[in-house]
Amino acid sequence: MHNPECCDRRGCARPVITTFCKEALCLDHFCSRSYEFLNGTDERGQLSMASNSPTTEQIQTADECARRTLDICMSKMLLNNLERARLLDILLWCGDLAGSSGAKKNSSSSISEISERGRHQESASRRETSRIAIRN
Ligand SMILES: [Zn+2]
Repeated sequence: MHNPECCDRRGCARPVITTFCKEALCLDHFCSRSYEFLNGTDERGQLSMASNSPTTEQIQTADECARRTLDICMSKMLLNNLERARLLDILLWCGDLAGSSGAKKNSSSSISEISERGRHQESASRRETSRIAIRN
């Protein structure tokens, strides 16, 4: 019996952090799965710059990937610098992928929505910080 709290990958007993492409994965395997997917789309894109548009399925996967990555970033989970760098890299790569598609309006709206939201939160907290600084 497979323990649902453990990563789906064989021989991996680390706790599940997220699900991606219907697999329950630990952080390490989520990162490697994401890179697998992103590398796959990029290689295909490099063959011809003219037909560099990712398929709808790839954009949906990139969207899912970005959301999962963001969930992990926003969770209270403690991440080391390498993990942070990997997650940020994956998130930006997903954004590039969605941005490189011709159908920007429909497919990549959710990703820009996510980054937009992140930006708002960031500026909000910065405002909060300066307010505190002024008060003191
Ligand atoms: Zn794992």
